[in-house]
Amino acid sequence: ELTTIYAITPTYSRAVQKAELTRLANTFRQVPRFHWIVVEDSSARTELVLRFLARSGVPYTHLHIPTPKRYKRAGLPRATEQRNAGLAWLRLHRSPRDSGVVFFADDDNTYSLELFDEMRTTRMVSVWPVGLVGGRRYERPLVDKGRVVGWYTGWRADRQFAIDMAGGFAVSLRIILANPKAVFKRRGSQPGMQESDFLKQITQVQDLEPKAQNCTRVLVWHTRTEKVNLGNEPKHRQDTVQIEV
Ligand code: UDP
Ligand code: MN
Repeated sequence: ELTTIYAITPTYSRAVQKAELTRLANTFRQVPRFHWIVVEDSSARTELVLRFLARSGVPYTHLHIPTPKRYKRAGLPRATEQRNAGLAWLRLHRSPRDSGVVFFADDDNTYSLELFDEMRTTRMVSVWPVGLVGGRRYERPLVDKGRVVGWYTGWRADRQFAIDMAGGFAVSLRIILANPKAVFKRRGSQPGMQESDFLKQITQVQDLEPKAQNCTRVLVWHTRTEKVNLGNEPKHRQDTVQIEV
């Protein structure tokens, strides 16, 4: 029987949100044995996301937790509370008898269907290259004789796990449940160090499982969506109907 893939997606209200979620759903709908954990950065579930998920055709759990205002600043890590809410849900609603793989899927990235075949065989923690990230065409774990021995990265190669949160790793559900205190930390985590700090709590570099042909294929891209220009939105003469975008 196929292992379930749990994707934790933090998301927040903005002009492009529904477009991003639509692209993701179009991918995830094609993945067998998939469970989407969508965590809204808000104090309540929004109508837009409620309606969207209900029609998405993807099995899902819909959570929400607002980022405290003091952490909504440029340069601070994003979506820490939302990722942890996803982990907390799994720890509450799944048991060691459930086989699963947990993956962090930001709402604006691009995922090849092949990535899910790769991550599904994760025994503890697996890693692979990420495209369009760190000021480079890609970053990747360096592999020698089937083991991760270093990182090809443009940014802070001194990190123990020089991995981007943008979809560069997966963790077996068993490991998430066996380490109930492992969470993404704001305190003591420098920007960009959260991934490394999280993985440190649950594994060691020599135990990482390289995927995607020994980390030589890019199956996920850290794409980013341009901010929309709404400069021509009418201030007075609104449309006669209200349309969700
Ligand atoms: N995000 C969020 N609240 C915010 C900003 C971002 O929940 O205030 C989510 C966003 O929807 C995405 C993830 O956190 O799923 C990473 O954010 P973003 O893509 O802006 O980060 P970057 O691509 O710059 O790492
Ligand atoms: Mn992003």
